[in-house]
Amino acid sequence: MDSKTAALPSEEGAAANDPAAPSARGRATSVGPFPVRTPARGEPLAEVAKTEPAAVAELVARARAAQVAWADTPLQDRAERIAKVKRRLLARAEEIATLLHRECGKPIEEAALAEVLPNADLIDYWTASIEELLDASPVDLDPLAYPGKVGRIQRDPRGVVALITPWNYPVAIPLRTIVPALLAGNAVVFKPSEITPRSGALVVSLFDGLLPDGVLSIAQGGSDVGAALVEAGVDLVVFTGSVATGREIAVACAARLIPTSLELGGKDSAIVLDDCDLERAARGVLWGAFTNAGQNCASIERVYVERAIADRFIERVVALTGQLRPGVDVGVMTTARQAEIVRRHLEAAVASGAEILAGGAPSEGSLAFPPTVLRVEREDTPLLQEETFGPILPVLVVNDAEEAVARTNASRFALTTSLWTRGYERAHALARRLRSGVVTINNHGFTGALPAAPWTGAGDSGFGVTSSPHALAELTRPRFLLEDRSRARSELWWYPYTPALRTIAFAMARARGGAGLLGRIGALVELVAALSKRLLGR
Ligand code: NAD
Repeated sequence: MDSKTAALPSEEGAAANDPAAPSARGRATSVGPFPVRTPARGEPLAEVAKTEPAAVAELVARARAAQVAWADTPLQDRAERIAKVKRRLLARAEEIATLLHRECGKPIEEAALAEVLPNADLIDYWTASIEELLDASPVDLDPLAYPGKVGRIQRDPRGVVALITPWNYPVAIPLRTIVPALLAGNAVVFKPSEITPRSGALVVSLFDGLLPDGVLSIAQGGSDVGAALVEAGVDLVVFTGSVATGREIAVACAARLIPTSLELGGKDSAIVLDDCDLERAARGVLWGAFTNAGQNCASIERVYVERAIADRFIERVVALTGQLRPGVDVGVMTTARQAEIVRRHLEAAVASGAEILAGGAPSEGSLAFPPTVLRVEREDTPLLQEETFGPILPVLVVNDAEEAVARTNASRFALTTSLWTRGYERAHALARRLRSGVVTINNHGFTGALPAAPWTGAGDSGFGVTSSPHALAELTRPRFLLEDRSRARSELWWYPYTPALRTIAFAMARARGGAGLLGRIGALVELVAALSKRLLGR
């Protein structure tokens, strides 16, 4: 950590974002109709030092100096060091899950299942496959046109990667980039969310003593530190967060001509068809909407259900919602600010005619937002247009799958969509017409935990790719290496440009398809004559 540090923004700022704080921004502490008491509620969490924005450039300079030697370290050595993180991670599973519970408010089980175990798979996947994925691939070159030449594509590290992440999965999201980025030979300067700085520090601590100094460093703080990092001369910015910040970062990167990877918000829909397994669909949609208290980019924020089964589906979802235990199955929300956005969306939807079937807003200031199900008719409300990022499930009845696909695609977001049906052929046909980057049939959202599966979107959901070889394509750049072993004194296309060369050029065009059969035969004859002249230097 840099010496130029200060306490996090302010005690008040930290408390406002802390589910453990008894009175977020001075509001009432009553938790309303969804009484949750996390073990941490009321306990202060340890203070974290903030990095001065002015010190960020120094971190980047140290990362740049360290990266060259790191990229030169044999790949197997890099992989062996990173493989050790898996054991540390698993050995600290309870500590990590407890911290996530305290810092974000998520249930311990959810923290362990979503943010600890998948990272073991992540490390296994990348350490086992990195050699093959980085291996140079040959390029086929026609030996007649390019005699003596051999070409290969290498994958080189970008250099220094700036990684800026959100608060909703503060361990899993950073690791998904840190692990492949380091394996590929990059250095990483990581800025976690100012709302979850302790989780950020924990992520970096997993690598303690395994990496040369400077290869992985952390810059703690808010938007000022993030902006300073983007401006500090990095080679790639990998960002996960809101659309508004993503836009700002894209503009800053464009001005500096730095590539950027943006994983942004979502407004995922679940399309429930009349031939689905209703019980599975209801349970799956419930989890997809309420896991992490709905604070998930891939949260189900719209359900389009076919009219034929709508009543039965809604009835089952409402019944299952009633069985969810506050604080056991569904945690508190992480920030008062987000809880206010959710409340606003809910109130506007109700004002425009939506009917609350389960749950409802808690008392003002409470982070314990109950899982809420609504029947909605109108889509011209923020609850259907913007990202809500809370435990709210709006259900809309549609006439058929076509209408559901059209409405899903009408959103400016396109992250993931799920189709619930027993008709797989029909589902595949519908999937081809969806804009979203991930489509799941009879499941939702969990594929973010699969290291070999690309996680990506379109539109306002951004264009970044996490996981899979496609993510590695962002973390590296292709370098083409050509080796010429030809003994010829000169190439055909080198100087001097002569009439024979001109004849060759146009005869080749005719011979390669620019003329009919007779024309091609004539061109070949011309070509032989012109080539012999060219060989004589004419
Ligand atoms: P945010 O945009 O407010 O903050 C994200 C990060 O950016 C934080 O670390 C923040 O400090 C930093 N930041 C803010 N302003 C900055 C600036 N001008 N320059 C550089 N850095 C800056 O987002 P959030 O509230 O932390 O996260 C929630 C959002 O993240 C939601 O929209 C959610 O959908 C999205 N998200 C997307 C994915 C995905 O894979 N697509 C995954 C998780 C979360």
